[in-house]
Amino acid sequence: MTAAAERSGVSKHIAVVGAGLGGLRSAEQLRAAGHDGPVTVIGAEPHLPYSRPPLSKELLAHELLGGGGGAPEAAGAADDLGALHQRVAFRRRASVAGVTFRLGTAVTGTDLTSGTLALADGGTARFDGLIAATGLRPRRLTVPGPAGPGSGRHVLRTLDDMAALRAGLRAALRDAASLAPSAPVPSPPVLAPAGAGPATASGGLPRPRVVVVGGGFVGCEVACTARWLGCDVTVVEPAGPPMLRVLGAEVAAAVQASHERAGIGFVIGRAVIAYAGQDRVTGVVLADGTDADGSGFSGARIPAGQALAGAVLPADLVVEAIGSVPNTEWLASAGLDLTDGVLCDNSLAAHPAGRPWAVVAAVGDVARFPNPLFDDVPRRVEHWSMPTDTARRAAVTVTARLAGDPVDTTPFRPLPSFWSDQGELRMWSFGSPGLADEVTVAEGDLREPARGLLATYRRAGRLVGSVAVNLPPLRHRELREALLAQ
Ligand SMILES: Cc1cc2nc3c(=O)[nH]c(=O)nc-3n(C[C@H](O)[C@H](O)[C@H](O)COP(=O)(O)OP(=O)(O)OC[C@H]3O[C@@H](n4cnc5c(N)ncnc54)[C@H](O)[C@@H]3O)c2cc1C
Repeated sequence: MTAAAERSGVSKHIAVVGAGLGGLRSAEQLRAAGHDGPVTVIGAEPHLPYSRPPLSKELLAHELLGGGGGAPEAAGAADDLGALHQRVAFRRRASVAGVTFRLGTAVTGTDLTSGTLALADGGTARFDGLIAATGLRPRRLTVPGPAGPGSGRHVLRTLDDMAALRAGLRAALRDAASLAPSAPVPSPPVLAPAGAGPATASGGLPRPRVVVVGGGFVGCEVACTARWLGCDVTVVEPAGPPMLRVLGAEVAAAVQASHERAGIGFVIGRAVIAYAGQDRVTGVVLADGTDADGSGFSGARIPAGQALAGAVLPADLVVEAIGSVPNTEWLASAGLDLTDGVLCDNSLAAHPAGRPWAVVAAVGDVARFPNPLFDDVPRRVEHWSMPTDTARRAAVTVTARLAGDPVDTTPFRPLPSFWSDQGELRMWSFGSPGLADEVTVAEGDLREPARGLLATYRRAGRLVGSVAVNLPPLRHRELREALLAQ
Protein backbone atom coordinates (compact mmCIF):
# COMPACT_ATOMS: atom_id res chain seq x y z
CA MET A 1 0.00 0.00 0.00
CA THR A 2 1.28 3.46 -0.83
CA ALA A 3 1.88 6.16 1.74
CA ALA A 4 -1.09 8.03 0.25
CA ALA A 5 -3.45 5.13 0.85
CA GLU A 6 -2.31 4.72 4.40
CA ARG A 7 -2.86 8.44 4.99
CA SER A 8 -6.33 8.59 3.49
CA GLY A 9 -7.80 5.53 5.14
CA VAL A 10 -10.61 5.56 2.55
CA SER A 11 -11.29 3.08 -0.22
CA LYS A 12 -8.42 2.80 -2.62
CA HIS A 13 -8.28 5.09 -5.64
CA ILE A 14 -7.12 3.63 -8.95
CA ALA A 15 -5.86 5.92 -11.70
CA VAL A 16 -5.87 4.63 -15.25
CA VAL A 17 -3.64 6.74 -17.48
CA GLY A 18 -4.70 6.69 -21.13
CA ALA A 19 -8.31 6.85 -22.32
CA GLY A 20 -8.12 4.54 -25.33
CA LEU A 21 -9.41 1.01 -25.68
CA GLY A 22 -7.06 -0.28 -22.96
CA GLY A 23 -8.02 2.50 -20.54
CA LEU A 24 -11.74 1.94 -21.03
CA ARG A 25 -11.46 -1.83 -20.71
CA SER A 26 -9.34 -1.40 -17.57
CA ALA A 27 -12.08 0.66 -15.92
CA GLU A 28 -14.72 -1.92 -16.87
CA GLN A 29 -12.59 -4.81 -15.69
CA LEU A 30 -11.73 -3.15 -12.37
CA ARG A 31 -15.45 -3.12 -11.63
CA ALA A 32 -15.79 -6.71 -12.86
CA ALA A 33 -12.92 -7.68 -10.54
CA GLY A 34 -14.80 -6.22 -7.58
CA HIS A 35 -13.06 -2.88 -7.09
CA ASP A 36 -15.79 -0.52 -5.93
CA GLY A 37 -13.58 2.40 -4.91
CA PRO A 38 -12.95 5.45 -7.06
CA VAL A 39 -11.51 5.01 -10.54
CA THR A 40 -10.26 7.93 -12.64
CA VAL A 41 -9.34 7.54 -16.29
CA ILE A 42 -7.03 10.36 -17.42
CA GLY A 43 -6.61 10.92 -21.15
CA ALA A 44 -4.48 13.28 -23.21
CA GLU A 45 -7.03 13.39 -26.01
CA PRO A 46 -10.18 15.47 -25.49
CA HIS A 47 -12.41 12.61 -26.65
CA LEU A 48 -14.06 9.78 -24.78
CA PRO A 49 -12.54 6.42 -25.79
CA TYR A 50 -13.07 5.50 -29.43
CA SER A 51 -12.12 2.78 -31.87
CA ARG A 52 -9.01 3.42 -33.96
CA PRO A 53 -9.30 0.80 -36.76
CA PRO A 54 -11.86 2.84 -38.79
CA LEU A 55 -9.44 5.81 -38.84
CA SER A 56 -7.45 4.30 -41.70
CA LYS A 57 -10.48 2.83 -43.45
CA GLU A 58 -14.15 3.77 -43.52
CA LEU A 59 -13.97 6.94 -41.42
CA LEU A 60 -11.17 8.36 -43.57
CA ALA A 61 -13.32 7.96 -46.68
CA HIS A 62 -16.69 8.63 -45.02
CA GLU A 63 -18.72 10.92 -47.29
CA LEU A 64 -15.52 12.50 -48.54
CA LEU A 65 -16.63 12.57 -52.16
CA GLY A 66 -20.08 13.91 -51.33
CA GLY A 67 -23.40 12.41 -52.27
CA GLY A 68 -23.11 13.19 -56.00
CA GLY A 69 -19.77 11.43 -56.53
CA GLY A 70 -16.68 12.79 -58.17
CA ALA A 71 -14.79 15.78 -56.81
CA PRO A 72 -15.43 16.33 -53.11
CA GLU A 73 -17.54 19.17 -51.89
CA ALA A 74 -16.27 21.64 -49.29
CA ALA A 75 -16.04 20.27 -45.75
CA GLY A 76 -19.51 19.75 -44.31
CA ALA A 77 -21.32 18.38 -41.30
CA ALA A 78 -19.74 14.96 -41.82
CA ASP A 79 -16.32 16.50 -41.09
CA ASP A 80 -17.27 17.94 -37.73
CA LEU A 81 -14.94 16.37 -35.17
CA GLY A 82 -17.82 15.65 -32.81
CA ALA A 83 -19.77 13.92 -35.59
CA LEU A 84 -16.72 11.89 -36.58
CA HIS A 85 -16.13 10.92 -32.97
CA GLN A 86 -19.71 9.73 -32.59
CA ARG A 87 -19.22 7.29 -35.43
CA VAL A 88 -16.37 5.52 -33.63
CA ALA A 89 -16.98 6.17 -29.93
CA PHE A 90 -17.19 3.06 -27.76
CA ARG A 91 -20.47 2.42 -26.04
CA ARG A 92 -20.16 3.28 -22.35
CA ARG A 93 -21.28 0.30 -20.33
CA ALA A 94 -23.29 0.71 -17.15
CA SER A 95 -20.39 -0.65 -15.13
CA VAL A 96 -18.36 2.52 -15.76
CA ALA A 97 -21.14 4.92 -14.81
CA GLY A 98 -19.29 5.86 -11.62
CA VAL A 99 -15.89 6.18 -13.28
CA THR A 100 -14.46 9.68 -13.65
CA PHE A 101 -13.04 10.56 -17.06
CA ARG A 102 -10.58 13.44 -16.93
CA LEU A 103 -9.94 14.20 -20.59
CA GLY A 104 -7.81 16.59 -22.61
CA THR A 105 -4.92 16.63 -20.17
CA ALA A 106 -1.81 14.48 -20.36
CA VAL A 107 -0.08 13.03 -17.35
CA THR A 108 3.44 14.46 -17.28
CA GLY A 109 4.98 12.87 -14.21
CA THR A 110 4.52 10.20 -11.56
CA ASP A 111 5.49 10.15 -7.90
CA LEU A 112 4.98 6.62 -6.64
CA THR A 113 5.98 7.43 -3.08
CA SER A 114 3.22 10.00 -2.57
CA GLY A 115 0.86 8.33 -5.08
CA THR A 116 0.54 11.50 -7.16
CA LEU A 117 0.33 12.17 -10.87
CA ALA A 118 1.32 15.55 -12.34
CA LEU A 119 -0.94 16.76 -15.13
CA ALA A 120 -0.16 18.99 -18.11
CA ASP A 121 -2.84 21.49 -17.00
CA GLY A 122 -0.96 22.08 -13.76
CA GLY A 123 -3.25 19.88 -11.69
CA THR A 124 -2.50 16.67 -9.86
CA ALA A 125 -4.32 13.40 -9.31
CA ARG A 126 -3.88 10.96 -6.49
CA PHE A 127 -3.81 7.19 -6.67
CA ASP A 128 -3.23 4.05 -4.66
CA GLY A 129 -3.09 1.79 -7.70
CA LEU A 130 -1.97 2.79 -11.19
CA ILE A 131 -2.66 1.28 -14.60
CA ALA A 132 -0.63 2.53 -17.57
CA ALA A 133 -2.67 2.41 -20.78
CA THR A 134 -0.95 5.14 -22.76
CA GLY A 135 -0.45 3.25 -26.02
CA LEU A 136 1.84 4.53 -28.75
CA ARG A 137 2.46 7.57 -30.89
CA PRO A 138 3.69 7.59 -34.49
CA ARG A 139 7.43 7.58 -35.09
CA ARG A 140 8.41 10.58 -37.23
CA LEU A 141 10.92 10.85 -40.04
CA THR A 142 13.64 13.32 -39.13
CA VAL A 143 14.74 14.32 -42.61
CA PRO A 144 15.19 17.79 -44.14
CA GLY A 145 12.19 19.45 -45.72
CA PRO A 146 8.90 21.11 -44.85
CA ALA A 147 7.43 20.05 -41.50
CA GLY A 148 4.57 20.89 -39.21
CA PRO A 149 0.91 21.73 -39.75
CA GLY A 150 0.12 22.74 -43.33
CA SER A 151 3.23 21.04 -44.74
CA GLY A 152 1.28 18.18 -46.27
CA ARG A 153 3.02 15.60 -44.03
CA HIS A 154 0.63 13.46 -42.04
CA VAL A 155 0.66 10.66 -39.48
CA LEU A 156 -2.27 8.59 -38.28
CA ARG A 157 -2.91 7.54 -34.71
CA THR A 158 -5.65 9.77 -33.33
CA LEU A 159 -9.04 11.04 -34.45
CA ASP A 160 -7.48 14.49 -34.84
CA ASP A 161 -4.71 13.04 -37.05
CA MET A 162 -7.41 11.40 -39.14
CA ALA A 163 -9.40 14.64 -39.42
CA ALA A 164 -6.27 16.48 -40.63
CA LEU A 165 -5.47 13.75 -43.16
CA ARG A 166 -9.06 13.68 -44.33
CA ALA A 167 -9.01 17.46 -44.84
CA GLY A 168 -5.71 17.15 -46.72
CA LEU A 169 -7.13 14.47 -49.00
CA ARG A 170 -10.25 16.54 -49.58
CA ALA A 171 -8.19 19.60 -50.55
CA ALA A 172 -5.92 17.55 -52.82
CA LEU A 173 -8.88 15.91 -54.55
CA ARG A 174 -10.55 19.28 -55.06
CA ASP A 175 -7.35 20.86 -56.40
CA ALA A 176 -6.90 17.98 -58.82
CA ALA A 177 -10.50 18.17 -59.97
CA SER A 178 -10.27 21.92 -60.52
CA LEU A 179 -7.50 21.32 -63.05
CA ALA A 180 -9.94 19.48 -65.29
CA PRO A 181 -13.32 21.10 -64.69
CA SER A 182 -14.97 19.54 -67.70
CA ALA A 183 -13.67 16.01 -67.16
CA PRO A 184 -16.25 13.32 -66.38
CA VAL A 185 -16.55 12.57 -62.67
CA PRO A 186 -16.20 9.07 -61.24
CA SER A 187 -18.77 7.37 -59.07
CA PRO A 188 -18.14 7.58 -55.34
CA PRO A 189 -15.92 4.78 -54.04
CA VAL A 190 -17.41 1.88 -52.19
CA LEU A 191 -15.46 0.70 -49.16
CA ALA A 192 -15.81 -2.94 -49.94
CA PRO A 193 -13.78 -5.43 -51.96
CA ALA A 194 -13.56 -3.37 -55.11
CA GLY A 195 -10.48 -4.21 -57.13
CA ALA A 196 -9.02 -1.11 -58.70
CA GLY A 197 -11.76 1.20 -57.41
CA PRO A 198 -12.73 4.46 -59.02
CA ALA A 199 -9.21 5.63 -59.81
CA THR A 200 -9.08 3.47 -62.93
CA ALA A 201 -12.39 4.85 -64.12
CA SER A 202 -11.63 8.48 -63.66
CA GLY A 203 -12.01 9.36 -67.33
CA GLY A 204 -8.91 11.52 -67.36
CA LEU A 205 -9.54 13.38 -64.12
CA PRO A 206 -6.15 14.40 -62.64
CA ARG A 207 -5.39 12.50 -59.48
CA PRO A 208 -3.74 13.85 -56.35
CA ARG A 209 -0.42 12.16 -55.72
CA VAL A 210 -0.22 10.50 -52.33
CA VAL A 211 3.02 8.95 -51.09
CA VAL A 212 2.78 6.64 -48.10
CA VAL A 213 6.13 6.20 -46.37
CA GLY A 214 6.13 2.80 -44.68
CA GLY A 215 4.52 -0.42 -45.85
CA GLY A 216 3.19 -1.74 -42.56
CA PHE A 217 -0.46 -2.45 -41.82
CA VAL A 218 -1.54 1.15 -41.23
CA GLY A 219 0.44 2.35 -44.26
CA CYS A 220 -1.14 -0.25 -46.54
CA GLU A 221 -4.63 0.46 -45.22
CA VAL A 222 -4.23 4.20 -45.85
CA ALA A 223 -2.80 3.48 -49.30
CA CYS A 224 -5.83 1.35 -50.20
CA THR A 225 -8.29 3.94 -48.88
CA ALA A 226 -6.55 6.78 -50.76
CA ARG A 227 -6.65 4.67 -53.90
CA TRP A 228 -10.38 4.09 -53.43
CA LEU A 229 -10.79 7.82 -53.18
CA GLY A 230 -9.20 8.20 -56.59
CA CYS A 231 -5.66 9.20 -55.61
CA ASP A 232 -2.49 8.14 -57.38
CA VAL A 233 -0.76 6.24 -54.56
CA THR A 234 2.82 5.04 -54.05
CA VAL A 235 4.11 3.20 -51.00
CA VAL A 236 7.82 3.62 -50.20
CA GLU A 237 9.28 0.87 -48.03
CA PRO A 238 13.02 0.32 -47.57
CA ALA A 239 12.83 -3.07 -45.85
CA GLY A 240 11.10 -5.25 -48.45
CA PRO A 241 7.57 -6.11 -49.52
CA PRO A 242 4.78 -4.71 -47.34
CA MET A 243 4.18 -6.17 -43.87
CA LEU A 244 7.22 -8.40 -44.39
CA ARG A 245 8.00 -8.88 -40.70
CA VAL A 246 4.56 -10.29 -39.92
CA LEU A 247 3.60 -12.02 -43.17
CA GLY A 248 6.94 -13.42 -44.36
CA ALA A 249 8.42 -12.81 -47.81
CA GLU A 250 6.11 -14.96 -49.94
CA VAL A 251 2.78 -13.82 -48.52
CA ALA A 252 3.97 -10.20 -48.37
CA ALA A 253 4.93 -10.34 -52.05
CA ALA A 254 1.50 -11.79 -52.89
CA VAL A 255 -0.23 -8.96 -51.03
CA GLN A 256 1.97 -6.40 -52.79
CA ALA A 257 1.09 -7.89 -56.17
CA SER A 258 -2.61 -7.72 -55.30
CA HIS A 259 -2.28 -4.03 -54.37
CA GLU A 260 -0.33 -3.37 -57.55
CA ARG A 261 -3.13 -4.85 -59.58
CA ALA A 262 -5.42 -2.34 -57.85
CA GLY A 263 -3.15 0.44 -59.11
CA ILE A 264 -0.97 1.16 -56.05
CA GLY A 265 2.70 1.70 -56.85
CA PHE A 266 5.51 0.41 -54.62
CA VAL A 267 9.08 1.63 -54.28
CA ILE A 268 10.82 -1.12 -52.36
CA GLY A 269 14.34 -1.03 -50.94
CA ARG A 270 14.78 2.75 -50.96
CA ALA A 271 14.73 5.00 -47.94
CA VAL A 272 13.39 8.54 -47.85
CA ILE A 273 16.23 11.01 -47.21
CA ALA A 274 14.41 14.35 -47.54
CA TYR A 275 11.24 16.06 -48.61
CA ALA A 276 11.21 18.48 -51.54
CA GLY A 277 9.29 21.76 -51.31
CA GLN A 278 9.41 25.07 -49.47
CA ASP A 279 6.45 25.41 -47.10
CA ARG A 280 4.63 22.37 -48.45
CA VAL A 281 5.90 18.99 -49.51
CA THR A 282 6.05 18.66 -53.30
CA GLY A 283 8.00 15.43 -53.43
CA VAL A 284 9.75 12.67 -51.55
CA VAL A 285 13.51 12.39 -52.10
CA LEU A 286 14.73 8.82 -52.24
CA ALA A 287 18.08 7.45 -51.13
CA ASP A 288 20.93 6.81 -53.48
CA GLY A 289 20.93 3.70 -55.65
CA THR A 290 20.44 2.50 -59.16
CA ASP A 291 17.58 0.36 -60.23
CA ALA A 292 19.12 -1.75 -62.96
CA ASP A 293 16.02 -3.38 -64.35
CA GLY A 294 13.18 -1.50 -62.74
CA SER A 295 12.31 -4.44 -60.51
CA GLY A 296 12.43 -2.28 -57.42
CA PHE A 297 9.61 -0.18 -58.77
CA SER A 298 6.11 -0.54 -59.84
CA GLY A 299 3.95 2.39 -60.61
CA ALA A 300 6.46 3.36 -63.32
CA ARG A 301 7.27 6.78 -61.93
CA ILE A 302 11.01 6.42 -62.36
CA PRO A 303 12.23 4.69 -65.52
CA ALA A 304 14.31 1.53 -65.21
CA GLY A 305 18.01 2.14 -65.12
CA GLN A 306 17.76 5.69 -63.86
CA ALA A 307 20.20 6.60 -61.13
CA LEU A 308 18.24 7.25 -57.99
CA ALA A 309 20.53 9.66 -56.21
CA GLY A 310 18.14 12.38 -55.23
CA ALA A 311 15.33 10.93 -57.32
CA VAL A 312 12.11 12.61 -56.34
CA LEU A 313 8.67 11.09 -56.23
CA PRO A 314 6.23 13.94 -56.77
CA ALA A 315 3.72 14.20 -53.92
CA ASP A 316 0.78 16.42 -53.06
CA LEU A 317 0.39 14.72 -49.70
CA VAL A 318 2.57 12.36 -47.64
CA VAL A 319 1.54 9.94 -44.93
CA GLU A 320 4.34 8.73 -42.66
CA ALA A 321 3.55 5.29 -41.31
CA ILE A 322 6.96 4.13 -40.14
CA GLY A 323 6.09 2.56 -36.81
CA SER A 324 5.36 3.77 -33.31
CA VAL A 325 6.96 4.84 -30.06
CA PRO A 326 5.53 3.81 -26.64
CA ASN A 327 4.19 6.71 -24.54
CA THR A 328 6.16 6.18 -21.32
CA GLU A 329 7.88 9.52 -20.62
CA TRP A 330 5.37 10.30 -17.86
CA LEU A 331 6.76 7.28 -15.96
CA ALA A 332 10.41 8.30 -16.35
CA SER A 333 11.03 8.80 -12.61
CA ALA A 334 9.05 5.75 -11.46
CA GLY A 335 11.97 3.32 -11.45
CA LEU A 336 10.39 1.03 -14.04
CA ASP A 337 12.06 -0.74 -16.95
CA LEU A 338 10.77 1.39 -19.86
CA THR A 339 12.78 -0.27 -22.61
CA ASP A 340 10.25 -0.53 -25.44
CA GLY A 341 7.14 -0.03 -23.31
CA VAL A 342 6.45 -0.84 -19.66
CA LEU A 343 8.05 -4.12 -18.63
CA CYS A 344 5.57 -6.30 -16.71
CA ASP A 345 5.45 -9.82 -15.38
CA ASN A 346 2.95 -12.36 -16.65
CA SER A 347 0.23 -10.93 -14.39
CA LEU A 348 0.77 -7.47 -15.97
CA ALA A 349 2.28 -6.09 -12.75
CA ALA A 350 5.19 -3.70 -13.24
CA HIS A 351 7.84 -3.66 -10.52
CA PRO A 352 9.38 -0.26 -9.75
CA ALA A 353 12.91 -0.55 -8.41
CA GLY A 354 13.10 0.44 -4.73
CA ARG A 355 9.29 0.71 -4.34
CA PRO A 356 8.04 -2.87 -3.94
CA TRP A 357 4.83 -1.65 -2.29
CA ALA A 358 3.70 0.33 -5.35
CA VAL A 359 0.76 -1.17 -7.21
CA VAL A 360 1.44 -0.55 -10.91
CA ALA A 361 0.31 -2.45 -14.00
CA ALA A 362 0.26 -1.84 -17.75
CA VAL A 363 -2.17 -2.84 -20.49
CA GLY A 364 -2.57 -2.67 -24.26
CA ASP A 365 0.01 -1.58 -26.80
CA VAL A 366 2.33 -0.10 -24.16
CA ALA A 367 2.64 -3.27 -22.03
CA ARG A 368 5.64 -5.58 -22.58
CA PHE A 369 5.08 -8.93 -20.95
CA PRO A 370 6.00 -12.61 -21.40
CA ASN A 371 3.37 -14.84 -22.98
CA PRO A 372 3.92 -18.54 -22.19
CA LEU A 373 1.85 -19.42 -25.23
CA PHE A 374 5.08 -18.73 -27.13
CA ASP A 375 8.02 -18.43 -24.70
CA ASP A 376 9.24 -16.38 -21.73
CA VAL A 377 10.47 -13.34 -23.69
CA PRO A 378 8.58 -10.15 -22.78
CA ARG A 379 7.15 -8.45 -25.88
CA ARG A 380 4.74 -5.70 -26.72
CA VAL A 381 1.84 -6.69 -28.97
CA GLU A 382 0.13 -3.97 -31.03
CA HIS A 383 -3.07 -5.88 -31.70
CA TRP A 384 -6.68 -5.04 -31.15
CA SER A 385 -7.27 -8.08 -28.94
CA MET A 386 -4.53 -7.17 -26.45
CA PRO A 387 -6.02 -4.14 -24.63
CA THR A 388 -9.09 -6.17 -23.72
CA ASP A 389 -7.20 -9.31 -22.69
CA THR A 390 -4.51 -7.48 -20.74
CA ALA A 391 -7.03 -5.17 -19.04
CA ARG A 392 -8.91 -8.18 -17.70
CA ARG A 393 -5.79 -9.64 -16.17
CA ALA A 394 -4.28 -6.34 -14.97
CA ALA A 395 -7.54 -5.41 -13.21
CA VAL A 396 -7.53 -8.69 -11.29
CA THR A 397 -3.87 -8.19 -10.36
CA VAL A 398 -4.28 -4.58 -9.20
CA THR A 399 -7.48 -5.28 -7.29
CA ALA A 400 -5.90 -8.23 -5.46
CA ARG A 401 -2.72 -6.33 -4.61
CA LEU A 402 -4.64 -3.33 -3.26
CA ALA A 403 -6.78 -5.63 -1.14
CA GLY A 404 -3.71 -7.46 0.14
CA ASP A 405 -4.94 -10.69 -1.44
CA PRO A 406 -2.67 -13.18 -3.20
CA VAL A 407 -2.14 -12.43 -6.89
CA ASP A 408 -3.48 -15.01 -9.35
CA THR A 409 -0.51 -16.97 -10.67
CA THR A 410 -2.39 -18.94 -13.33
CA PRO A 411 -0.36 -18.47 -16.51
CA PHE A 412 -1.77 -15.68 -18.66
CA ARG A 413 -1.67 -16.97 -22.26
CA PRO A 414 -3.63 -14.56 -24.45
CA LEU A 415 -3.87 -15.36 -28.15
CA PRO A 416 -3.02 -12.23 -30.15
CA SER A 417 -5.32 -11.57 -33.09
CA PHE A 418 -5.94 -8.71 -35.47
CA TRP A 419 -7.59 -8.02 -38.78
CA SER A 420 -6.70 -5.67 -41.60
CA ASP A 421 -8.91 -4.52 -44.48
CA GLN A 422 -6.88 -3.64 -47.54
CA GLY A 423 -8.74 -3.19 -50.81
CA GLU A 424 -10.10 -6.54 -51.86
CA LEU A 425 -8.20 -8.33 -49.08
CA ARG A 426 -9.47 -8.94 -45.56
CA MET A 427 -6.67 -10.43 -43.50
CA TRP A 428 -7.01 -12.07 -40.12
CA SER A 429 -3.98 -13.01 -38.12
CA PHE A 430 -3.93 -15.29 -35.09
CA GLY A 431 -0.96 -15.89 -32.82
CA SER A 432 2.43 -14.33 -33.59
CA PRO A 433 3.37 -15.07 -37.20
CA GLY A 434 6.34 -12.70 -36.84
CA LEU A 435 8.08 -15.23 -34.55
CA ALA A 436 8.13 -17.95 -37.20
CA ASP A 437 11.13 -19.41 -39.01
CA GLU A 438 8.98 -21.35 -41.48
CA VAL A 439 5.92 -20.30 -43.50
CA THR A 440 3.64 -22.72 -45.33
CA VAL A 441 0.87 -21.82 -47.73
CA ALA A 442 -1.72 -24.29 -46.47
CA GLU A 443 -4.59 -23.25 -48.73
CA GLY A 444 -5.04 -21.14 -51.84
CA ASP A 445 -2.80 -19.71 -54.49
CA LEU A 446 -0.30 -16.92 -53.79
CA ARG A 447 -1.07 -15.50 -57.22
CA GLU A 448 -4.69 -14.95 -56.22
CA PRO A 449 -4.90 -14.23 -52.48
CA ALA A 450 -8.28 -12.56 -52.93
CA ARG A 451 -9.78 -15.97 -53.71
CA GLY A 452 -8.83 -17.23 -50.24
CA LEU A 453 -5.45 -17.97 -48.73
CA LEU A 454 -4.26 -19.58 -45.53
CA ALA A 455 -0.64 -19.39 -44.40
CA THR A 456 0.61 -21.14 -41.29
CA TYR A 457 3.68 -20.06 -39.37
CA ARG A 458 5.95 -22.37 -37.37
CA ARG A 459 8.92 -21.86 -35.13
CA ALA A 460 11.17 -24.90 -34.60
CA GLY A 461 8.32 -26.98 -36.02
CA ARG A 462 5.70 -25.64 -33.61
CA LEU A 463 2.68 -23.66 -34.85
CA VAL A 464 2.95 -20.02 -33.68
CA GLY A 465 0.60 -18.20 -36.02
CA SER A 466 -1.71 -18.18 -38.99
CA VAL A 467 -2.83 -15.58 -41.50
CA ALA A 468 -6.13 -16.03 -43.30
CA VAL A 469 -7.00 -13.89 -46.31
CA ASN A 470 -10.65 -13.73 -47.39
CA LEU A 471 -11.55 -16.94 -45.57
CA PRO A 472 -15.03 -17.16 -44.07
CA PRO A 473 -15.22 -16.17 -40.36
CA LEU A 474 -16.41 -19.69 -39.58
CA ARG A 475 -12.87 -20.86 -40.21
CA HIS A 476 -11.40 -18.47 -37.67
CA ARG A 477 -12.51 -20.47 -34.66
CA GLU A 478 -10.68 -23.52 -35.94
CA LEU A 479 -7.53 -21.46 -36.56
CA ARG A 480 -7.66 -20.05 -33.04
CA GLU A 481 -8.18 -23.45 -31.50
CA ALA A 482 -5.26 -24.95 -33.41
CA LEU A 483 -2.99 -22.35 -31.84
CA LEU A 484 -4.39 -22.62 -28.33
CA ALA A 485 -3.94 -26.39 -28.46
CA GLN A 486 -0.15 -26.00 -28.81
C1 LIG B 1 -5.05 3.96 -37.65
C2 LIG B 1 -5.09 2.66 -36.91
C3 LIG B 1 -5.75 1.57 -37.46
C4 LIG B 1 -5.78 0.36 -36.78
N1 LIG B 1 -6.43 -0.69 -37.35
C5 LIG B 1 -6.45 -1.87 -36.73
C6 LIG B 1 -7.11 -2.98 -37.32
O1 LIG B 1 -7.67 -2.90 -38.41
N2 LIG B 1 -7.10 -4.14 -36.65
C7 LIG B 1 -6.49 -4.29 -35.44
O2 LIG B 1 -6.49 -5.39 -34.91
N3 LIG B 1 -5.86 -3.25 -34.84
C8 LIG B 1 -5.83 -2.05 -35.46
N4 LIG B 1 -5.20 -0.99 -34.87
C9 LIG B 1 -4.52 -1.19 -33.56
C10 LIG B 1 -5.45 -0.92 -32.37
O3 LIG B 1 -6.25 0.20 -32.61
C11 LIG B 1 -4.57 -0.71 -31.14
O4 LIG B 1 -3.94 -1.95 -30.88
C12 LIG B 1 -5.35 -0.23 -29.92
O5 LIG B 1 -5.94 1.01 -30.17
C13 LIG B 1 -4.44 -0.12 -28.71
O6 LIG B 1 -5.16 0.38 -27.61
P1 LIG B 1 -4.42 1.07 -26.36
O7 LIG B 1 -5.51 1.47 -25.43
O8 LIG B 1 -3.32 0.22 -25.88
O9 LIG B 1 -3.72 2.37 -26.96
P2 LIG B 1 -4.39 3.66 -27.61
O10 LIG B 1 -5.63 3.28 -28.33
O11 LIG B 1 -3.31 4.33 -28.39
O12 LIG B 1 -4.79 4.58 -26.37
C14 LIG B 1 -3.82 5.21 -25.58
C15 LIG B 1 -4.37 6.55 -25.12
O13 LIG B 1 -3.48 7.07 -24.14
C16 LIG B 1 -3.35 8.46 -24.34
N5 LIG B 1 -2.10 8.94 -23.73
C17 LIG B 1 -0.84 8.79 -24.17
N6 LIG B 1 0.03 9.36 -23.33
C18 LIG B 1 -0.70 9.89 -22.32
C19 LIG B 1 -0.37 10.61 -21.14
N7 LIG B 1 0.89 10.90 -20.81
N8 LIG B 1 -1.38 11.00 -20.32
C20 LIG B 1 -2.67 10.70 -20.62
N9 LIG B 1 -3.03 10.03 -21.73
C21 LIG B 1 -2.06 9.62 -22.57
C22 LIG B 1 -3.34 8.60 -25.84
O14 LIG B 1 -3.65 9.93 -26.21
C23 LIG B 1 -4.44 7.59 -26.22
O15 LIG B 1 -5.69 8.21 -26.25
C24 LIG B 1 -5.14 0.24 -35.52
C25 LIG B 1 -4.47 1.35 -34.97
C26 LIG B 1 -4.44 2.55 -35.64
C27 LIG B 1 -3.73 3.74 -35.04
